[in-house]
Amino acid sequence: MAKYKIIHLKKDCISCGACAAINPDFWQMDDEGFAQLKGAKEVGDNWELEINTEEARASNQEAVDVCPVQIIKIETI
Ligand code: SF4
Repeated sequence: MAKYKIIHLKKDCISCGACAAINPDFWQMDDEGFAQLKGAKEVGDNWELEINTEEARASNQEAVDVCPVQIIKIETI
């Protein structure tokens, strides 16, 4: 059962690559050079992925912390 939701406001990505560098298990750069949260689904302006482990939460918190435009968020669900 999912515990957390990662939310990415992809349209505001500035293509710095930091999230993919620090957490390549979850993040990659797409063909247009923007970050893509692997396996995420598009929900309105956001891309969202549910996760269920503390390890996944912690590794994605690193992506949250490193994003210079603060467009990655983690919600408890
Ligand atoms: S860290 Fe933020 S701005 Fe940089 S590529 Fe990832 S989502 Fe885009």
